[in-house]
Amino acid sequence: MNHPLRLGRDLALLACAAALAACGCSPAGPPSGGSWEAARRRMVERQLEARGVRDGRVLAAMGRVPRQEFVPERYREWAYEDGPLPIGRGQTISQPYLVAVMTEAVGPRRGQRVLEVGTGSGYQTAVLAELAGEVYTVELLPELAAAAAARLARLGYRNVHVQAGDGYLGWPEEGPFDAVVVTCRVGEVPGPLLEQLRPGGRMVLPVGEAGEMQMLRVLTKGSDGGREVRDLLPVRFVPLRRAGDAGGK
Ligand code: SAH
Repeated sequence: MNHPLRLGRDLALLACAAALAACGCSPAGPPSGGSWEAARRRMVERQLEARGVRDGRVLAAMGRVPRQEFVPERYREWAYEDGPLPIGRGQTISQPYLVAVMTEAVGPRRGQRVLEVGTGSGYQTAVLAELAGEVYTVELLPELAAAAAARLARLGYRNVHVQAGDGYLGWPEEGPFDAVVVTCRVGEVPGPLLEQLRPGGRMVLPVGEAGEMQMLRVLTKGSDGGREVRDLLPVRFVPLRRAGDAGGK
């Protein structure tokens, strides 16, 4: 689960979603009386602009990507709610606000190459693809990687490349990258990702130990190899796991 501060509310939301799914009356349409577009506009205004997301390109991208397509059918009605949602295999689609903050933090531009670690549903991938040149994304769980690749292709994203594998290692053949976005918790900055970041490039990642609150951090790599680090906000993301980790899920 990845959520900064309103965990109680999210748990209530998830419990409510699960209860509804269990009764078999899963709604798949937009919230009552509205359209997906209207729900998305409200999300951009109330969850992003009202909380200080300023980058017009990011706001526009978030206003274009159909989040309901990235959410399992039975949770669709909540696609524009202010929190993460389950996507299967114990993983979650990130809260829209965090996707916006992370995208704003690295500021991808046309012509740039971006690496994402932790494809999940592919939602963050799509937002990055709206703004960047090429997006390379790595997901540990092959079935999530395959589902995200199919979904992104169906939605017409031609500048996205999905690989199933251990994103800790990055995607060395395609680097260096102008920006790196890590959507799972790490104990410290993974060396291979720092190596594959172009001098002047930015990496955003949640850093912290298991069971603790994590800090969403943005790191800028200097042209001399040094780095400058800025803390953004406390968050809670699912952990980065290595291919051989016990449990494997
Ligand atoms: N940005 C995604 C969030 C996905 S949650 C979205 O909005 O949908 C984090 C994802 O990281 C999970 O799908 C998890 O399986 C994946 N993950 C965990 N360890 C990983 C690793 N070593 N390499 C690549 N992906 C990993």
